[in-house]
Amino acid sequence: MPERTAAKAGADELYTGIRRAMENRELTVYYQPKFDALTGKMTGAEALVRWIRPDGTMVMPGDFIPCLEESEGILALDWYVLREVCAFLNRQREAQIHSVPIAVNFSRRHAFEEHFVSRLCEIVDELSIPHKWIEAEITESALTDQSDKIADSIRAIRDAGFRVAIDDFGSGLSSLSFVKDISVDVLKIDKSLLSRNCEDEKERIVLESIFNFAHRLKLTTVAEGVETREQLGFLRTCDCKIIQGFLFAKPMPEQDFTELCRKGNTEEPTEDILVTQAPSSATQLLLDAVFTRYALVILANLTRNSFYMMEYENFTSTSCPSTGVFDELIQHGASTMHPEDRELFRNTFSIPNLMAAYNRGEKCVSVVTRQIGDDGVYRRVETADYFVKNPSVDDVLVIALCHNLE
Ligand code: C2E
Ligand code: CA
Ligand code: CA
Repeated sequence: MPERTAAKAGADELYTGIRRAMENRELTVYYQPKFDALTGKMTGAEALVRWIRPDGTMVMPGDFIPCLEESEGILALDWYVLREVCAFLNRQREAQIHSVPIAVNFSRRHAFEEHFVSRLCEIVDELSIPHKWIEAEITESALTDQSDKIADSIRAIRDAGFRVAIDDFGSGLSSLSFVKDISVDVLKIDKSLLSRNCEDEKERIVLESIFNFAHRLKLTTVAEGVETREQLGFLRTCDCKIIQGFLFAKPMPEQDFTELCRKGNTEEPTEDILVTQAPSSATQLLLDAVFTRYALVILANLTRNSFYMMEYENFTSTSCPSTGVFDELIQHGASTMHPEDRELFRNTFSIPNLMAAYNRGEKCVSVVTRQIGDDGVYRRVETADYFVKNPSVDDVLVIALCHNLE
């Protein structure tokens, strides 16, 4: 028999076995909690299927899921798990136990299933489970082929109010651009990227870059397979948000998980966030505060006549380019100002005038002008240029903090 046909026959046979196991309720769901990396508070859990045979032996998903993925059988299994999860969440609610959102694994095959999202809603709505309690995990390898179809499917899941996670990120060959093009909520970094102690310099660079990239896309990051304190320490310095792994908890039967939910917290004593706070994470919080206050933040190099936009959200005018020539940015900025303020703006922020202020030892140059918004209305905005230093160059740099005064 050719290999492919043999695999298909094996999958069909397994499917028959799994169907019987579902009918006999031999398939059960284990829950592996996920924790906030800084506070240790439980933030969610992942539903992981287990096949417990009548003789009590447990078959792990790794022993049947890959084969089941060769057939439609995986679809039936995933729907079964989702139903079990909804029934569990319903029991929790009835027992008035505070629960956490549960992540359910969905095979890539669902993207090709007709009416996938309406079926998802139907099952979840049957017990009136709020959609935000369910997170769909879709493995990274799903994104590599027919990505348009998968992207449509992910969009529809999110439009229906469910959260979506990209699972096993970094395990395959998918490029970062898939994540850029596909809107998701969560990025789960694959455990294969974590060595035992995160001691390898190159590995650290790769991980730091992935976390940086994910955070800039405003994705929630989850590291899975975390087993050691060293890994946790390093992940905290990367500002990883959520940890899943044996270090905190293994996948456990429903009863144990319920107990954990009842306690409402982890085995770990909750540490003061300021004690566990990694410096990079503290800096990120500071930046969040700055970006909340200032809708437009620009880093400019006066010596090189260049700029880079660090933050640009909800500013009165939304037509600025994101990098380029500083002079042109000022010209562009001036053109959006009230005619009476243009000269003032252009003069204040001309490179020679800023350089002169720098040479006089001034720390900041600021001005208030009226700027036209996309709605045609002029509003007062303050632009404050702070001189900053990068120790590795002599260039004169400024950070411009701009905010709407009204
Ligand atoms: P996954 O989605 O990547 O799930 C995480 C796997 O990592 C789980 O294996 C979990 O037990 C394991 N794990 C968690 N923390 C650690 C750790 O600290 N160290 C190590 N070495 N492993 C850790 P599990 O339960 O054997 O599941 C294997 C895979 O089977 C899952 O990988 C998922 O791809 C698949 N799977 C499980 N349940 C379902 C399901 O209901 N539907 C689908 N489609 N796939 C499922
Ligand atoms: Ca998963
Ligand atoms: Ca995974």
